[in-house]
Amino acid sequence: MKEKKKILNRQMFDDVMIPFYNPADFIPVLGQGSRLFDQLNKDYIDFSSGIAVTALGHCHAKLIKALKEQSNKLWHTSNLFVNEPSLNLARKLIDYSFESRVFFSNSGAEANESALKIARYYSNKKFNVYKNKIISFYNSFHGRTFFTVSVGGQYQYSDGFGTKPPDIIHVPYNNLQSVKSVIDDHTCAIIVEPIQGEGGVELATIDFMVGLRDLCNKHHVLLIIDEVQTGIGRTGKLFAYEHYGIKPDILTLAKALGGGFPIGATLASTKIAKIVQLGIHGTTYGGNPLACSVSNAVLDLINHPKLLLGVQRKFQIFKKELVKINKKLNLFSEIRGKGLLIGIVFRQEYIINIPIVIKTALKEGLIILKAGTNVIRLAPPLNIKNIDINEGLLRFYRTLRIVYGRSVKF
Ligand SMILES: *Cc1c(COP(=O)(O)O)cnc(C)c1O
Repeated sequence: MKEKKKILNRQMFDDVMIPFYNPADFIPVLGQGSRLFDQLNKDYIDFSSGIAVTALGHCHAKLIKALKEQSNKLWHTSNLFVNEPSLNLARKLIDYSFESRVFFSNSGAEANESALKIARYYSNKKFNVYKNKIISFYNSFHGRTFFTVSVGGQYQYSDGFGTKPPDIIHVPYNNLQSVKSVIDDHTCAIIVEPIQGEGGVELATIDFMVGLRDLCNKHHVLLIIDEVQTGIGRTGKLFAYEHYGIKPDILTLAKALGGGFPIGATLASTKIAKIVQLGIHGTTYGGNPLACSVSNAVLDLINHPKLLLGVQRKFQIFKKELVKINKKLNLFSEIRGKGLLIGIVFRQEYIINIPIVIKTALKEGLIILKAGTNVIRLAPPLNIKNIDINEGLLRFYRTLRIVYGRSVKF
């Protein structure tokens, strides 16, 4: 029987998928470095890295090699066994961060879910069952499991699913006084992003992060730093907490850790890990050999002074060019960020067109992200070439002229 060739297009999404998303109207079929290509072979400069995931670009030769080699050896064994790539990866993560133990999972949400469970478990065991309270921040994002989305500070994501887990408090970000006013003996953990990624590329101040560390020490509260987006080189250091001269009690990673292969990791200080008991948490795929092999290659490439310095340099290129664009168009009120997590803040009167900017950019061959209500977020590959930065920014400029052309004075 002759098989009918199916036409795979964007239209089909609406017929076969649960409509949580509204993807772009083209389908990428190929990725090369900082570029994507669609079914018609049109190219797109990727300033999104699949939302800060493909930190070494698409289809990096060394990641392909790691994946291919491991795929010929062993794919999966479950947690009935440990495997060599996961031991190797855990050792590296600990050596590069702080005195800790590692739990591997498959996503950022899962990394945070386990962090929160570990924190509650530890505080219940070590102190008492009333030490449950979790302090989190408005506009924060920690994933979409019910616990993590309830801890996240954006109610539009957590409403509509019935009763939420209790003892979660939200206070304003970068406001130490508000934390002081709610922290007490019943507080078990504070969870914080060093930069609120989804929330609008909002940077934590040094005083805030150091202040949180001090408050946690004073009240026997665990500091969970969520580096799912900022970790693994994104800000020009391997971990963003290094910018603040502090250390977390629990650190969560995902996104760039796998360079595009799903993996999450939770690092808990040895003191905490020792209290955890056999069997209280788990996940079937955690520490999967394929994921860990790719991650080992990712870490070897990213944890390199030259690459990390390059990230800081490239921020300066972006900033300089964006300032130039703004001199001509006067659309932005601020350009902020660290390393290659960049927020372009639009002036109040231009915010309304941000969704159109993103759509038009796609037409012009550029992929950019929204963050918060008034920010366009750029998270290009950490190894993006200057030629691609320049071409991408040219396309961005062209996009802005198309969208705002008539309303902007030249
Ligand atoms: C993306 C993100 C998450 C959730 O990660 P998933 O892999 O989508 O579950 C959690 N925290 C932060 C800071 C993130 O940016």
